[in-house]
Amino acid sequence: MKKFYLLTVALIMCLSGCGDTDSDSQNSQTNVTTPTVSSSITTTTTTVTTTCNHIWIEASCTEPKTCSVCGETSGEPTGHQWEEATCTTPKICSVCGKTEGSAKGHKWKDATCTEPKTCSVCGKTDGSAKGHKWKDATCTEPKTCSVCGKTDGSAKGHKWKEATYDSPKTCKTCGKTEGDPLERVIPNIYLNTQLPCQINHYGSLTNKLMTTSTITGVDISIEENYNKSFDIIFKFSGQRDYDYQGELHSTAAVVGIKIYDSNGNVVDSDTYYSPNICYGETFANDEKKMYYVKLDPSETYYVELLNVK
Ligand SMILES: [Zn+2]
Ligand SMILES: [Zn+2]
Ligand SMILES: [Zn+2]
Ligand SMILES: [Zn+2]
Ligand SMILES: [Zn+2]
Repeated sequence: MKKFYLLTVALIMCLSGCGDTDSDSQNSQTNVTTPTVSSSITTTTTTVTTTCNHIWIEASCTEPKTCSVCGETSGEPTGHQWEEATCTTPKICSVCGKTEGSAKGHKWKDATCTEPKTCSVCGKTDGSAKGHKWKDATCTEPKTCSVCGKTDGSAKGHKWKEATYDSPKTCKTCGKTEGDPLERVIPNIYLNTQLPCQINHYGSLTNKLMTTSTITGVDISIEENYNKSFDIIFKFSGQRDYDYQGELHSTAAVVGIKIYDSNGNVVDSDTYYSPNICYGETFANDEKKMYYVKLDPSETYYVELLNVK
């Protein structure tokens, strides 16, 4: 009704001869048919196309600028201002909030020793770092993470046990060996007394001859005991020649043993007691051992058989 009223006013103004139709607004169109005066009675026939003082609603993403009154549009919709989808949000219009598709979701990188589970795109983390899985230091490797290989400190180094005759230089920790076992070196030893020889045993106080024996053979051998300490093994053979108590008596025959080095120094001495045998009886390969004699493996030693007082 209001529109019509306005139009009528405009028409009346025109009819009143006040000049051209005012057409300030380009959007306003008024078609006026000049009244036909046929008599004193004026008949006015008017065809009116609506004129609107548009009340514009700004263009939106999807709608052009539109008059809220008449619905007329102008231009184009602005279109959405898309922001790319992120890990947590879908593609979204920054203007109208419309979304498309869905969030991309995080691209998780597994937790490492030092970093928690982390999105490679946005950097979001979840949980905590795993921490290193340390393997203890060894002789040759420092404390090392079995996962990432990080090291801490330094290798312990081997704990060497010197070579022995049975085993090479060996690490007490890891068992690594170096080189060979020590070579067994046995010193040379020779009997320096001509055989057969007669050995006399005198009473220590009386100086009286107690026994006489003839040594016919001495077999001498050396065995390593440990670390340059040797056992010297003698095997005596011989016979009894005299016993101060008479032929049927069997006082042990006694033989003195002295060991010299190559410079004539006495190294050790001992006494061999023969089995209790009687005059005329013999003995063979009767063993006498000297234990733990310190000998230089590279030296040569000499044995002398001696009378005993
Ligand atoms: Zn309008
Ligand atoms: Zn939008
Ligand atoms: Zn992310
Ligand atoms: Zn690690
Ligand atoms: Zn080792």
